[in-house]
Amino acid sequence: MRKKIVAGNWKMNKDFNEGVSLFSEVINMVNDEIIGNQQVVVCAPFIHLNSLFGLKKGYDKVSVGAQNSHQEESGAYTGEISAVMLKSINVEYVILGHSERRQYFGEDNALLAKKTDIALKHGLKPIFCIGETLSERESGEYFNIVKSQLAEGTFHLSPDEFSKLVIAYEPVWAIGTGVTASSAQAQEIHAFIRKEIAAKYGQSVADETTILYGGSCNPKNADELFSQADIDGGLIGGASLKSRDFVDIAK
Ligand code: PGA
Repeated sequence: MRKKIVAGNWKMNKDFNEGVSLFSEVINMVNDEIIGNQQVVVCAPFIHLNSLFGLKKGYDKVSVGAQNSHQEESGAYTGEISAVMLKSINVEYVILGHSERRQYFGEDNALLAKKTDIALKHGLKPIFCIGETLSERESGEYFNIVKSQLAEGTFHLSPDEFSKLVIAYEPVWAIGTGVTASSAQAQEIHAFIRKEIAAKYGQSVADETTILYGGSCNPKNADELFSQADIDGGLIGGASLKSRDFVDIAK
C-alpha cells in the first residue's frame, strides 16, 4: 500500500510569526480531525523550519519539508542552503524541480538529477516535480515532456534510491491559475507516469510510488482528484496558506 500524502508548499509567503501561527493551527486541526493514515507535510521557507519542530509536540502525522536545496554539500555558494544543513535540523522532505524553480531559476533536468542525488545521500525525501506548460499541453507534446523530466531527473537512480522519492505531477498551466486539470486529465498522466516507472524499475516499485497532483487543488476538487486510481494525494500551494482549507484537503 503506497503512502497517501498531502503536502503544502507555502512558497515565499508568511513572515516568521505568521508561519508559526499557521503551522500551529495545522498541527492542532490535524491532531483533532485526521483519523486516516495520510501524511501531512508542510514545506515552509527556510527561516521557519527549525522552529516548526518545536511546535510539532512529537506529533508525527505532520512532517516538515523544505522547498529547495543545493546540488553541492557545502562551499562558496552565497545565499544557498544545502541538504546537509536541512538534515542537521531533521527536515524530512524537500521539494525539487518545482516549475517555478525551473522557470525563474533556470533549473534543468541535469541540475535536478544532481540535487536529487545529494538530497538522497543525506537522507532527505525529495518531492520531485514534473509537469508541462500550456503550450506543451496544447501541442500534444506533454507525454514526452513529462517523460523526459522524469527520466533525465531521476532514472539514473537505483531502484532502492528511486523508491525514496515522491513524484508530483503539476501541470504549469494549473499552478496558481484557478484552472485545475480535470480528474480524467490528471489520472491519464498519473497512469502514464506509473507505467514509465514500471518500465524502468518494475511493477512493484511503480505500485509503491506515491504520485501527487498539484495545481489549483482546493477543498472542493480534492475529493474527486484524489479518488482517481493513480493519484495518491496533492501538492498544495495557495490553499495551504489557509489552515482550514489545507486540512480539509488532507481530510
Ligand atoms: P497552487 O500551487 O495550489 O497554488 O496552484 C501548487 C504548487 O505550485 O505546488
